[in-house]
Amino acid sequence: MSRESKARKRERANRVFDLLLKEHPDAHCALDHRNAYELAVATVLSAQCTDERVNRVTPELFRRYPDPAALAGARQSAVEEIIRSTGFFRNKAKSLRGMARKVVQRHGGEIPRTMGELTELPGVGRKTANVILGNAFGLDEGVVVDTHVNRLSNRLGFTKERDPVRIERELMALFPRERWTHLSHLLIFHGRRTCVARKPKCGSCPVASLCPLSLVKGSLVQASLA
Ligand code: SF4
Repeated sequence: MSRESKARKRERANRVFDLLLKEHPDAHCALDHRNAYELAVATVLSAQCTDERVNRVTPELFRRYPDPAALAGARQSAVEEIIRSTGFFRNKAKSLRGMARKVVQRHGGEIPRTMGELTELPGVGRKTANVILGNAFGLDEGVVVDTHVNRLSNRLGFTKERDPVRIERELMALFPRERWTHLSHLLIFHGRRTCVARKPKCGSCPVASLCPLSLVKGSLVQASLA
């Protein structure tokens, strides 16, 4: 069985995207937010925590600290108390206060709009920066690679890498830039609903015929293509 060419892989990947778009028309960033500041805070809180749990604590957090200036002046213990249920709350509270202070001191209280400036903020790595740039500012600078995107990218034969930075690079090469932000929404929704971690529901999966790992008999794509 011959290996899949780069062009064929790109074509297959974008067909998968089109089918997932039809299957999950509601795919979106699941962290509740009204602006870039709120999204930055919610994304920091989402590390090792579900989006649902984050959405339960952020209303009170944003009520008490509605902007970076307010959060920069917050007491560590007060922030910890509000975000306790999201786990790792001491480190998260430290990151949030540090991030807010730097946003106030260096950026006039506005969340910056570049990858370089964002990743210099405490608690903000490339993944968080991609979430902020793509969803708060509509800038496709990269692809958010979380646990779902990592798993599905491998199952779908888009990559053989496990390292998120390498996976992101491969996904950026497969999809046009304007698809980068929504690609992760689609893969995350599909990973939650159908291609779940333990027992993927290949029998009801709309991209089974394009998936090397499909458990459906008669699938068109063979494992060797990955
Ligand atoms: S066919 Fe199965 S393994 Fe492939 S994407 Fe669908 S659910 Fe996941």
